[in-house]
Amino acid sequence: MSSGADVPMSKTDWIVVGAGSAGCMVAAQLAHATDSRRGLITVVEPPGATARQIDRERPANWLNLLGSSEDWNLSTQESHQLANRTIRWPRGRGLGGSSRINAMIWFPPTRKDLQMLVTASGGSWSISKLQQDLKDLTQWTRPEPPTWQSESSQRFLQATNQLDEGKAGSYMRLNRSGRRWNPAELLNAAQSDGTLEVQRATVNRLLCEGDRIIGVETWDDHGKNRIMANRGVIICAGAIATPGILMRSGIGPREQLQRAGIEVRLESEQVGRGLQDHLIMPVIFQVKSDRFPSHSSVQDIARWQTMGTGPLASNLAECGGLFLDDSIQIHVTPTHYLTYPKTTDHAFMTLGVNASQPQSTGMLRLQSSDPRVPLSIHPHYLEEACDRDVTVQGMRFVRRLVKETNLSQWVVSESIPGKKRGTAQDLEKAICRYSQTLYHPAGTSLMGTMSSSVVTPEFRLRGFQQGWVVDASVLPRLTHGNPNATVMLLAYKAAKELSKVVG
Ligand SMILES: Cc1cc2nc3c(=O)[nH]c(=O)nc-3n(C[C@H](O)[C@H](O)[C@H](O)COP(=O)(O)OP(=O)(O)OC[C@H]3O[C@@H](n4cnc5c(N)ncnc54)[C@H](O)[C@@H]3O)c2cc1C
Repeated sequence: MSSGADVPMSKTDWIVVGAGSAGCMVAAQLAHATDSRRGLITVVEPPGATARQIDRERPANWLNLLGSSEDWNLSTQESHQLANRTIRWPRGRGLGGSSRINAMIWFPPTRKDLQMLVTASGGSWSISKLQQDLKDLTQWTRPEPPTWQSESSQRFLQATNQLDEGKAGSYMRLNRSGRRWNPAELLNAAQSDGTLEVQRATVNRLLCEGDRIIGVETWDDHGKNRIMANRGVIICAGAIATPGILMRSGIGPREQLQRAGIEVRLESEQVGRGLQDHLIMPVIFQVKSDRFPSHSSVQDIARWQTMGTGPLASNLAECGGLFLDDSIQIHVTPTHYLTYPKTTDHAFMTLGVNASQPQSTGMLRLQSSDPRVPLSIHPHYLEEACDRDVTVQGMRFVRRLVKETNLSQWVVSESIPGKKRGTAQDLEKAICRYSQTLYHPAGTSLMGTMSSSVVTPEFRLRGFQQGWVVDASVLPRLTHGNPNATVMLLAYKAAKELSKVVG
């Protein structure tokens, strides 16, 4: 791999690749631990147009951000397990990354998740220290309780209390007084005092001298550039782009690199493998009241603008929790999950069910050495029979919840999959036909102590000096609930590791 001596070059001390959930947290914390005399941090995030301001601010508008200029607009390969469907895989683009377009739910890692991280660290981390880190980092993210709740959520929470078979609650949100908050705000202070700069460019690959990472090659409409880093490069491009950058740098499965004509620098079979995601099956009910508005009324806008409350402050996925011994998560939305925001005369509630610990793992495949060609995404959803079984059990639990609690008086009928679909086979068919991504890809740059892992528990890119990786790709197992809080926790921890290097 050449370092491209003919390509224009700039210099910095640290490069953070990607300003998403992890990138913003790690860059801000690193800036906090250093100062402008000791090193400049350059955060590299691809350029892009911004979506409408109202969609970026109003929590209830987040679905409008999907498919917008702030979305990488990825899709999976067709899968026979999903009735030969391809599904859209939104990923956030622009400062804030996926946190810029996500549903804002702050779901702290469960004790089992923390134990998973401790195991991955080979015992060098502890649950109590991780809990302390989580507490410290929430001083920066400051999740807040919902400022408004739909009737669906209120009724669901009452119903789960009646059955008492899980831990449901209103989700905390990354909001500020009912408005969307973006972790890119964490960069502001360091940008003002000159410790940190943001460059809008897309990273193609790492530049190396022997086993030392010395910079990155970027590209834009005008061609290639190089940014050289005196101290190191921290890759935070997320579960899809990070393995892409590694593979284009010659780090990955030999067969894939060779097929794309890339010289093998380090053979690493785990790069792009181990892909996990939550797959949500929406069980949709027509209900008697509380039709969630598809268009904002003047009153709702005024209420949100003056008090940060009302339906516009809803993130749609307002509440939920883990059930059946934490094997499933249920998300509650006051809408028809598959058709909202198309207008309808009826009121709906969706109870979305997903296996919290899916066993099926997929992979990403490099299609070309050209960074404009996205990796092909093969999630292999539902390949393991247990994932189908757990989802079926979850759907049955939801039906029981509706039948045996006060919800029974409020629900008119089950629209999807429909009451007459009762056998396990019927329900499996519905899962194939209607399930969607819950937007949580992870696990594609495995962290661990084994020599086959891509990243060490110190977040070092194995086999290299001055290279670190931290984002959802390093998670060895997907979290039980929504992963953003855990990704930010890892980034917070990585910054602590890096602070030792900053000295
Ligand atoms: C629609 C949606 C809804 C979600 N809802 C929730 C939720 O409510 N709660 C929750 O916990 N989780 C949610 N998630 C998941 C959560 O947002 C992600 O798990 C988390 O943001 C992952 O953080 P990350 O740092 O790994 O990646 P990201 O936040 O995706 O950041 C990666 C960054 O790298 C940049 N990048 C990509 N390629 C390059 C390149 N070549 N060069 C330079 N930069 C690059 C990207 O533009 C992006 O800014 C949601 C995700 C989506 C997409």
